[in-house]
Formats: sequence, C-alpha cells, structure tokens
Amino acid sequence: MLSSILALLHSLFYPHSCPGCGEEVRGKGVLCDPCRRGIWHPRSFQPLSLDCPHLDGLFFLMDYAGGIQKALQMAKFRGREDLLPRLAEEWRQGVLREQRFHWHLVPKIRLAATGIPTDPVRKKQRGYDLPEEIFRPWCRQEGYLWENLLIRNRSTRPQYGLTPEERKKNIKGCFTLARQENLPDIVLLCDDICTTGSTLEEAARTLKRGGVKKVYALALASGN
Ligand SMILES: [Zn+2]
Repeated sequence: MLSSILALLHSLFYPHSCPGCGEEVRGKGVLCDPCRRGIWHPRSFQPLSLDCPHLDGLFFLMDYAGGIQKALQMAKFRGREDLLPRLAEEWRQGVLREQRFHWHLVPKIRLAATGIPTDPVRKKQRGYDLPEEIFRPWCRQEGYLWENLLIRNRSTRPQYGLTPEERKKNIKGCFTLARQENLPDIVLLCDDICTTGSTLEEAARTLKRGGVKKVYALALASGN
C-alpha cells in the first residue's frame, strides 16, 4: 500500500521519460510508442537453429536495441529500480497484444515459470533479480506458478564480448537445481535478454537432467 502511494506520488512529481528518446511516457510501459515500434519484433525460434537442443521452443518479444537496450542497461547498471514495473508491463502487454505465445500447454500438467538467476554478487549490488521482476507479475496474472528452480553455483564472467564457444564454456555447470524432487513437468524459462542462447541452453540442460520434460524459453529482448 505504502509503496503504491509512493509510486503514485513519484509519478506525479517525476513524469517518466522514455529511455529511448527522452519524451514523456503517459502509459505504464517503459517506452514511448515510436521507440517501441522501432524494436518491436515478436518471434519464435526453433531450438536447433540456435543450437539449444535442450529447449523445446523460444519466444522473444523485441530486438535488443534502441530504447529497450537502454532501459535494461539502466535497470541493470544504474540502479533504476523505478523502471522494473514498467519493464514488466512491456512484457505483459506485449504478450497479451501479440497472442502468438501459444505452445500447447496441456491443462493440469504441472507447470512452473522460473528465471535465469542473477549472479549472487551482482544481485547483492543490484538488490533485485531482473528476470523475476519482469516476468513474475505476468505469471501472477496468468495463473502460472513462479518458482525459483535454479541456483547459480558460481560467478561467471560477463557473456558480453565472448565468442559462442567461450560463452558455452563460461556458463557450463554454473546452475544447480534448487531441489531434486517434485519438479514440474513443463518449465517456462525466463530471461531479460537472449544473446546466443547459451545461458538458456545450460539452464534447460540442468532442468532436464532433473526430470523436467519440456522447457520453453522466453526473453523480453534478443539480438538474434
Ligand atoms: Zn521514445
């Protein structure tokens, strides 16, 4: 309650400006309409086309460029916590509008959504886990159970600037399961950005070794 009052006061005194162009944004999203149109690119990928054999499908909403790239960097590196609910709103509204996210999710099958866990050191600095902040509000609305199924067991170098082979090596074995038993049958694996798919693939491999049957990856933005 208090936080929503504070958020309301904040929005009255500090109107939100679009990270892409600086124009005031009136809606609940993070971007203005022209900046959103510039990077809007909802698409599904076949896992093998991205060398992700443990995944069963991938869906990305935007290109990782322009305003969304700036917004994610601000949320990651400049402590702009105020952008988190707006980023969540971009995903929620985008998926709703697109209605292209329609893998056959069998009713009554045990399904959960989980995020790629942030490196513990970076999470401590940042104070939040970006994938969870972006996807959890949408899961709540859709009735998908959110569970933190993965743990990052060691720090990794930032993937930026590494070759695909180096990325795979960097990330190999860095996840463990938060529990060994009673895992869901289907997992929606969520991350803010997908670059080469190597992080999603490694997480999917870990989940499937634990007995998860299908893993679908979702990312707000991708460079693919
Ligand atoms: Zn803009």
